[in-house]
Amino acid sequence: MANSVIILSNEKLIALKAHYASDVVKRNAPGVVFAAKTANASITAYRSGKVLFQGGGAEMEAAKWASGDGVSATKKKAVVKGAALPDRLETLSVIGSDETGTGDFFGPVTVCACYVRADQIPLVAELGVKDSKLLTDPYMRSIAPDLKSVVTYSVLTLQNEKYNTVQAKGWSQGKIKALLHNQAIRHVLNKLEDEHPDYILIDQFAERGVYYNYLKDEREIVRENVLFATKAEGLHVAVAAASIIARVAFLDEMDRLSGLAGRTLPKGAGKKVDETAASILLSKGEPFLRSLTKWHFANAKKAAVLASKKRG
Ligand code: MN
Repeated sequence: MANSVIILSNEKLIALKAHYASDVVKRNAPGVVFAAKTANASITAYRSGKVLFQGGGAEMEAAKWASGDGVSATKKKAVVKGAALPDRLETLSVIGSDETGTGDFFGPVTVCACYVRADQIPLVAELGVKDSKLLTDPYMRSIAPDLKSVVTYSVLTLQNEKYNTVQAKGWSQGKIKALLHNQAIRHVLNKLEDEHPDYILIDQFAERGVYYNYLKDEREIVRENVLFATKAEGLHVAVAAASIIARVAFLDEMDRLSGLAGRTLPKGAGKKVDETAASILLSKGEPFLRSLTKWHFANAKKAAVLASKKRG
């Protein structure tokens, strides 16, 4: 089915509503201000000014409105200079990428790259994708299956045995993250084949130059149309979606590791983590604890101190 997304000014939106007044249909989806269905197209207008045309006549119908002050969201290509972001980035076809687990003593680092095509943006938003920092773990788990069925994504889980090995070789977390982001993005690009995202947006953890320096020994490095921005999950739903999928992969692995450890492993790197680590150290030994954790964290030493106190 052909879809078109355009953005209209307020005035054009009023004209559009008047034009389709006899074709109005009721839609209760969030953010929808107007919906209509003609013989050959469904038209959905959102509070943001975005209008989605679906169906066989979508392109033709959209073309009536896309001229003049309307801006075609799917065709727009802006030139990126420095840190500036393209206009209307949130309406373009974007691969977003984000990671989680980097601050947790227990559990893996997970990275997800996720492609959301321009015409999928309203649907992905409707599935409940928002800035994941505002979402709870159970909520993210509940929306992840539908989300994964809609978008093209790659999620990588770096087990701590591997993490500890490369960390001991002197790799920083920045380098580890950069390699995982690059790999996840490559996987998604391979899956897309003929489709070309407008941009790749990485939730920034390092400056562009630093990021590419981490990747300098890689054989395949994704450089084209790559943008970096902090708080990128608020800039495009693709990053928010990537963040959710990465988080759910982290939670799933935490469940698996909790099963192995015979107790719920706490997240983060606080006091509770030290106590749980100490008790695992006493009951299952250091090699096992090491396999569950990012061993260079200060928690490892704190756990050893706690354990030796308990031993008396
Ligand atoms: Mn991030």
